[in-house]
Amino acid sequence: MLKKTKIVATVGPASEKEEVLRQMIINGVNVFRLNFSHGTHEYHKNNLETIRKVAKELNVRVGILQDISGPKIRTGELKTPFELKKGDKLDFYREKIIGEQIATNHYKISINQSEILNMLKLNEYIYLYDGSIRTRVTAIDSEKIETIIENDGFLNSNKGINFPNTKINIDIITQKDKDDLLWGIQNGVDFLAISFVQNAHDIDEVREILIKNNATIAIFAKIEKFDAVENIDEIIASSDGIMVARGDLGIEVPYYRVPNIQKEIIYKANNASKPVITATQMLFSLAKSKTATRAEISDVANAVLDGSDAVMLSEESAVGIDPANAVDIMCQTIIETEKRYPYNKFNDFENLDNTDKIMRSSANLANDLNASAIFSLTSSGKSALKISRYRPNMEIIAVGHSEKTLNSLSIVWGVNPAILVNKSSGLTELLKDAVKSAVEKGFMKEDKCYLLTAGFPTGVEGTSNLIRILEKEQISYYLK
Ligand code: PGA
Ligand code: MN
Repeated sequence: MLKKTKIVATVGPASEKEEVLRQMIINGVNVFRLNFSHGTHEYHKNNLETIRKVAKELNVRVGILQDISGPKIRTGELKTPFELKKGDKLDFYREKIIGEQIATNHYKISINQSEILNMLKLNEYIYLYDGSIRTRVTAIDSEKIETIIENDGFLNSNKGINFPNTKINIDIITQKDKDDLLWGIQNGVDFLAISFVQNAHDIDEVREILIKNNATIAIFAKIEKFDAVENIDEIIASSDGIMVARGDLGIEVPYYRVPNIQKEIIYKANNASKPVITATQMLFSLAKSKTATRAEISDVANAVLDGSDAVMLSEESAVGIDPANAVDIMCQTIIETEKRYPYNKFNDFENLDNTDKIMRSSANLANDLNASAIFSLTSSGKSALKISRYRPNMEIIAVGHSEKTLNSLSIVWGVNPAILVNKSSGLTELLKDAVKSAVEKGFMKEDKCYLLTAGFPTGVEGTSNLIRILEKEQISYYLK
C-alpha cells in the first residue's frame, strides 16, 4: 500500500464506465460514494455491480458508501428565473405556488418543505441558491413570510435553501431516504452517510431502521448544519464515523469558520477512534480543468495533516472531465504529504480505556522495534481503529473473520484490510492461520520483525490484550 490516507470518490456520469472505474481503483480509490441525491435504484445498482466486478478482477478491497440525501430544502418551481437586486422583496408562501414576479422589485415563491416556514422568526436569514443570495425575514403572517434581499443574485427553480440561524428540528429521514436505506441494506453497502444531521437522535433513528432489518452498517454523520456543529460531541458518540461536509457547512456557518471547525471535528473524531472524511471542493478545479490550483493541493495536504482518515472527491469524479486524473492528483498529493507526516505524534487523546492504552503501547512498541508492519487481529474492527489513531508509520494489516468487518476498515487511515481467516477455537490455531496467510500473500517475510495484537480469549469482541513480537523463530514456528 503506497499511501495511508484513504480516498473516497463519488461515482457519477463521468465515472460510471467500467474502464474509468478500473483506472480510478488503480490510481488509488479505496471507497466509492454512491450519491443518492441523484439517480434511480437501478442506476446505482449498475454502478455497484461494475465496481464489485472490477475490484474483484483487480483483487483489491474497495468499500461502498451510500450517501443518503436527506431533507434538502429547495425553492419550488418559478415561472421564469428572478434577477434579484438588493432591497427587493421576496415573499415565501406557505401554500404551494408557482413562483413569479408580482410587482416591480417584488417576487413570490414557495419551497418544497413549507412546514419549515413555521419555524422562522423575525430578522432570521434565509440563504438561497447554495448561499449565493441572502435574504432577511421582515414580517410573518398566516399566508406568507416576507423577506428583503440583501445582495444581488440570480434565482432559479429547485435551488438549495439554507436556514443558518433557524433550528429546524425536522425529521431528517424522509420516505425516500427510508426506501434508499432498504436498498443499501439489500445490496450490502459498507457505509451510510446521513445528510443534514442535527443531533444524536437523527443517528439513532437510522440505527433503529438498521436493527429492525437485522443489518449492521457503519453510519457516518455528515456535519453540514450549524446545529450539528453545536451538537458535535453527542453526534460523534452515537455515529460510527464523521464526514466534514464543507459544501453545505460553509453556508450554514460563516465560511471563514470552516477551517477551524474542520480541525476541531477531526481531532474529536480521532479522539473517539471514529474514522473521519474531509469532503467537498478539495480539487474543485478538476471538474473543468486538467490541473488543480496550488491552493487546492495545499487543502488536500492540510486535511491529511489534520488527521483525516480519508479525503473525498465529489464533482471532480462524478461529473468532472477526467475522474481518473483527479484520483491520481489526489493520490500523489497524499503520498508526498505523508513523507513528512507527524507519525506517532497523534497521542494527546483523552479518556483512554484499557484497550486504548494497549493500542497506544503497541504503536509505540512497533515503532521502537522498527517493526515492518502491525498485524491487528480484529473481529469487530475496533482494535484496528484504535491502533490506527496513533498513526504509526508502518502499515497496519487487519486480520478478520468477516468480509464485512474488513470492508468497514477500507476507509480507515493506514489499515490494509487484507487477511480473512476462519474463526478458530484456539489462539494458536488463529495465529497459525494468520501467519500462514500473511506469508502466502507476501505481507510477512521471515527476516523481518512484526508486531501482532489480538484478543484472548479469542472471539470476545473489543478485548485486544495480547501482543506478540514475530521474528524469524516465531514465524517459522507458526508456519509448521
Ligand atoms: P453533498 O454533501 O455533496 O451531498 O451536498 C457534502 C457537502 O455538503 O459538503
Ligand atoms: Mn451537503
